[in-house]
Amino acid sequence: MPLRAVLSFFLCAFLLSASGCTGIQPSGSGSVSSGDEGNTLQDISGTVKVHFIDVGQGDSILIQSGKECMLVDAGTNETGAEVVRYLKSLGISRLAYLIGTHPHEDHIGGLDDVIHSFDIGTVIMPDVSHTTRTYEDVLDALIDKDLKVTKPVPGTVYQLGEASFTILSPTEEVEQQAAAAGDLNNLSVGLRLTFGSNAFVMCGDAEALSEEAIVESGLILKADVLKLGHHGSSTSTCDSFLQAVSPSIAVVSCGKDNSYGHPHRETMDKLAAEGITVYRTDEQGTLTATSDGSVITWNTGSGASADTGILSDESVSEGKTIADNNSYVLNKNSMKFHLPDCSSVEKMKESNKIYFDGSRDEVIGMGYAPCSQCNP
Ligand SMILES: [Zn+2]
Ligand SMILES: [Zn+2]
Repeated sequence: MPLRAVLSFFLCAFLLSASGCTGIQPSGSGSVSSGDEGNTLQDISGTVKVHFIDVGQGDSILIQSGKECMLVDAGTNETGAEVVRYLKSLGISRLAYLIGTHPHEDHIGGLDDVIHSFDIGTVIMPDVSHTTRTYEDVLDALIDKDLKVTKPVPGTVYQLGEASFTILSPTEEVEQQAAAAGDLNNLSVGLRLTFGSNAFVMCGDAEALSEEAIVESGLILKADVLKLGHHGSSTSTCDSFLQAVSPSIAVVSCGKDNSYGHPHRETMDKLAAEGITVYRTDEQGTLTATSDGSVITWNTGSGASADTGILSDESVSEGKTIADNNSYVLNKNSMKFHLPDCSSVEKMKESNKIYFDGSRDEVIGMGYAPCSQCNP
């Protein structure tokens, strides 16, 4: 474990502070379902399977290669138990690698549950002193299990069954800059997983600062699949990085009707312009990609088909006509209210919607908060 982290743990063990990503509201849904019943670990020799687990607004990615498994992030505090259940339903009892990309709650919230529930091999996390209760829970769990933390060093290659992965970030320069600024997103551990001729790139919540440094580092980035940085925020997926990765599929891991408006329209437009297909956990639930080393086969959830940026444009305009006659659309679940044409309205569960014809003050008086995206 990094010394600074241990120190911060002991010094701040009694400090109660807000969770990592300010204002994170895990979507009530975040349901994790497993397509595989039975508790014997399947030997999937000859293939690599990547599961983008639906944890609402957050990340959790399981990678299986042969009989070896690795988990990148574990969702929120609220969804940790669901992640554990999902892994157990696949017969997993050991994780050769466990990566906590950065100490925000939507990534490491469930990590303590995972650490307590499985045999863990190598733990990779950025070397950062951070003092939220959530992070302390993780450090505590690591101490309980006598696990050490390995610092990510770009260019280092690790073997996972028949696949391998290369650490991409944080680069040394960005690490220093981001640590000094308390910029946790840009401390995110990034990696490129390869199996045969297939590759996947995932970099937590790394933003343009880190992405540009990754491009400049000269490491190979080309991949079939890019897990978009920071849930599809416009602060990530900068042009040079997208060009270097040049994926055919982009995955967004985010929650339904999240208060950040993730994924941002700007990012979706950029992908649509490049003809990149987008899969989203908020719309399609848990997504799995199986690679045989040359072809990737997708299981995109409950009958939902691939959603491209172009398709979502169309569905947003449909949303407008449905709700046009109402002043506001309220979300019973998130307690946010929106303008009828806000893109989140289209993504909202019908059962959570209230069409409200009244004044703004009335809505606020009812306990609803304005959406930060459409600013009603
Ligand atoms: Zn995040
Ligand atoms: Zn973050």
